Amino acid sequence: MDETRGLSPGETLVFTLNAGSSSLKFALFREDPDEDPERLATGVVEAIGPNARLRVTHADGGVAIDERPAGGIPNQAAALARVLGWLESFRPEAAAAAVGHRIVHGGPDLARPVRIDAEILDALARLEPLAPLHQPNNLAGVRAAMAAFPQAVQVACFDTAFHQSHDRLRQTFPLPLKYYEAGVRRYGFHGLSYESVVDRLGRQFPEVAAGRIVVAHLGNGASMAAIRAGRPVATTMGFTALDGLMMGTRSGSLDPGVLLYLLEVEGLSLPELTHMLYEESGLRGVSGLSNDLRVLEASAEPAAALAIEMFVDRAARAVGELAVVLGGLDALVFTAGIGENSARIRASIAERLAFLGLSLDPQANASGGPVISATASLIRALVVSTDEEAMIARHALAVLREVRTGTSAAPGRDSSARPEARRHRSGDFLC
Ligand code: ADP
Repeated sequence: MDETRGLSPGETLVFTLNAGSSSLKFALFREDPDEDPERLATGVVEAIGPNARLRVTHADGGVAIDERPAGGIPNQAAALARVLGWLESFRPEAAAAAVGHRIVHGGPDLARPVRIDAEILDALARLEPLAPLHQPNNLAGVRAAMAAFPQAVQVACFDTAFHQSHDRLRQTFPLPLKYYEAGVRRYGFHGLSYESVVDRLGRQFPEVAAGRIVVAHLGNGASMAAIRAGRPVATTMGFTALDGLMMGTRSGSLDPGVLLYLLEVEGLSLPELTHMLYEESGLRGVSGLSNDLRVLEASAEPAAALAIEMFVDRAARAVGELAVVLGGLDALVFTAGIGENSARIRASIAERLAFLGLSLDPQANASGGPVISATASLIRALVVSTDEEAMIARHALAVLREVRTGTSAAPGRDSSARPEARRHRSGDFLC
């Protein structure tokens, strides 16, 4: 099917980019003045390197491209060039008016999506030590997109921004306070995913969105957020995306003494320790098999069972901790790859929370919800799919409108005096 038919040349297109360590996820949207942006296509370049694979899916689910180029795709810039080749054939006359980028870290100051210029790019590059595995790749994507779409407004959308309204109690580590001032604080991540879920809840289950909820973003990266009446109050990730829950390849929270021991006694170098904590720990490290939960669920190895048990145990304990922060719990919402797809993990987490009055409807859980709690359950449980790309597209269009109307705020400035800006300020968004 040719998705391009019937599109007018004057329409506004927005391209979203999520440049990871070994993948480039992208999507193309068309502005709809009265509705959410309409998704035209979604794609990913996976396993950037010798075995790279490019897949593009049209909005109707039809596969546009699925190929492994001979010789692979060496880096982000080459991946983007490949994607642009597809875009050229898909929409020969297309010129994206805005490119929205998922940027993992906005630091202490960038509290809302912002237009990227040279100054912002420098500021974001200075944050690279805070997210060494993500930020440099994100920025490589920005630079490649700036070169590829020189006319477009480039917009940074931060994974940290959603959590900026946490009070100081929840942002401060029990370290000498001078380190807080130096930026060593709990930032939180997965913010675009949480915004997306809160938005969907607000539309489909407003009574749930108005209460005390924990959103469990369980994917290869995993975290949870405590949200009261739409306002984020705490999250499990902290200074880096290593903290909190056990993840696919990341450790989650550790006794800091373990790190000292590994450095001092086991003699790991700093790069070795970093690699181990980000890439070789979590489900992969404990199971010795894989970071993919599907592989572990299908395995009879005791280490795979232990890894799953640990993942569930730590997730359930985190719900308990966040329920304390919220002073009670009205709903638990599962999202992301594991949260949306593994009925077994959802059931195991819920079992450990039965003492709080949570019980699932096994059939609803098996079929994926959206409501999966039993009628008699004191806490509702739901499965809500996250759509970070749609969130980025909305933010990018909002910034584009500000640029076009000359109302763009200074980066990070609290621009809540203006209704349009207020609507898109983190924490207030869509509440
Ligand atoms: P990320 O965006 O952090 O890379 P995702 O949210 O896409 O991760 O989640 C990916 C993970 O979800 C996979 O590694 C896999 O473990 C898990 N997953 C996906 N589908 C299923 C499924 N049907 N059953 C169990 N786990 C699944």
